[in-house]
Amino acid sequence: MLKGIAASAGVAIAKVFKLETPVLTVPTNRIEDVDAEIARFNAALEKTMADIEDIKDRAEKAGKLKPEELEIFDAHLMMAQDPELKDSIEMQIQDGDNAVHATDEVAKQWIAMFESMVDNEYMQARAADVKDVTFRLRANLLGIEIPDLGKMNEDSIVVAEDLTPSDTAQLNSFAKGFVTELGGRTSHSAIMARSLEIPAVVGTEGILKAAKAGDILIMDALKGEVFLNPSEEEIAVYRKKAADYIQYRNDLKVLKDAESITTDGHKVDIVGNIGTPKDADGVLANGGEGVGLYRTEFLYMNSQALPTEEEQFEAYKEVLEKMAPHPVVVRTLDIGGDKALPYLPLDPEMNPFLGYRAIRLCLDRKDIFRTQLRALLRASAYGKLRIMFPMIATLNEFRAGKQVYEEEKAKLLAEGVAVSDDIEVGMMVEIPASAVLADQFGKEADFFSIGTNDLIQYSMASDRGNQKVAYLYQPLNPSLLRLIKMAIDGAHKNGKWCGMCGEMAGDPISAPVLLGLGLDEFSMSATSILPARKMINSLSYAEMKEVAAKALEMATMEEVKAMVEKYLND
Ligand code: PEP
Ligand code: MG
Repeated sequence: MLKGIAASAGVAIAKVFKLETPVLTVPTNRIEDVDAEIARFNAALEKTMADIEDIKDRAEKAGKLKPEELEIFDAHLMMAQDPELKDSIEMQIQDGDNAVHATDEVAKQWIAMFESMVDNEYMQARAADVKDVTFRLRANLLGIEIPDLGKMNEDSIVVAEDLTPSDTAQLNSFAKGFVTELGGRTSHSAIMARSLEIPAVVGTEGILKAAKAGDILIMDALKGEVFLNPSEEEIAVYRKKAADYIQYRNDLKVLKDAESITTDGHKVDIVGNIGTPKDADGVLANGGEGVGLYRTEFLYMNSQALPTEEEQFEAYKEVLEKMAPHPVVVRTLDIGGDKALPYLPLDPEMNPFLGYRAIRLCLDRKDIFRTQLRALLRASAYGKLRIMFPMIATLNEFRAGKQVYEEEKAKLLAEGVAVSDDIEVGMMVEIPASAVLADQFGKEADFFSIGTNDLIQYSMASDRGNQKVAYLYQPLNPSLLRLIKMAIDGAHKNGKWCGMCGEMAGDPISAPVLLGLGLDEFSMSATSILPARKMINSLSYAEMKEVAAKALEMATMEEVKAMVEKYLND
């Protein structure tokens, strides 16, 4: 049994599909028969093109990628067909070099050339195409297969170091879940898994070494446990557990259209976190009363260049229309930290999480910020829009963001464009400084949304992606609870509302305390909404206020946890 982090709930039993980039060796031998080697090279090149065509075809049929995302395959095909690339490699083979070595050498030269064009983002992106195509070419020459998610044709559990957003987009219906070596509950593959509603266990140290393709694997993504080659009895136990979990999910469905209200009549909103317009469907299917966090950076990350105003407008409009009349909180671009854009190279930083990111970047690159705000303002006519700025540390940052917003709004109105007159502009509370000063921020922001994923990492000085310090992710530590209380009280004192969109909002042990602290809105992944509603509907607000007051006076997370658990079990 291997232990990981339960990142997306569920239980699955299936064969291992290992997604591992093979290590390719480069032989250095010279060759005698040049013609035969050139023929071998041409055959591998043909196969490479056919492979790319095939992946593109399947991606198109699966329909999960947008047209602009499919363009990457065309770029790869174009590179594979480039006569100059082919000629350069053939020339080197003419000199007696073997085809693998020749391909490797030419690839290195081309990559260096493209990468040196620092002020040409388009050419820089071509370096990635050369890497991908020549890697595939060398693998074909060596007769080594590159694992391909789209080729999965029986029920499988994907085992990988980590999954990229494009890997997750290629998962087909045979993928029953995934287990990764790296990552934490808030890493992006984990967030993706929850929106796709497939079980995931991440941060499973040793899984890559232990699991072989075809092994039978049980993943208990309720507990974060993974069993390799289990016995018949274990399989039977977990089949029942999987069936029970499905039954439990079905039982929750009756709460889909119910209110989220305590036994003594205190109402809260339970809403969903989304990364793409499509995710809004999951929020609605799970009875979400709105969207509490639309992470717009995925729109930028899944694109080859900065998304245009029009592209953004379409995406925001789609979400607002789907969710209407429910509110949608859209967060402006939160890039930097662990989220990079290939076409927007940023200077390397010693501490990117503490660096040039989110609102800091947007206030510096107002061109990017203005385009997004214009798209949002135009989309506001199609639903109930709320805008929030990420990573606000000072009131001046909030004011500066709000000012750009007001300027774009005035311009659009002057142009005669329809803009809603009922847009709330709020901020994330995810830096301790803003929690401590929440009573001041509350005078100007229309609402707060507490981002505990970052608030915890900054309060505890513990990198949210580093497993070695994962023990410091302590949502129930009284120090955190006091910061959360400051944020909520700061909002209420000014007649504003306070939500939470960090992972803590969907945690069943934290919910009673957050309720008692007076949190107004709980925003979480779609699959957590119904369990959270079931819990809220079973609790008394008056009692939870007492539980919260007790928690605030405790010394450690363990004490708080034990107290809440005891309360819930009695
Ligand atoms: C957070 O920090 O809690 C949050 C919701 O934002 P993200 O996870 O995207 O940083
Ligand atoms: Mg954050």
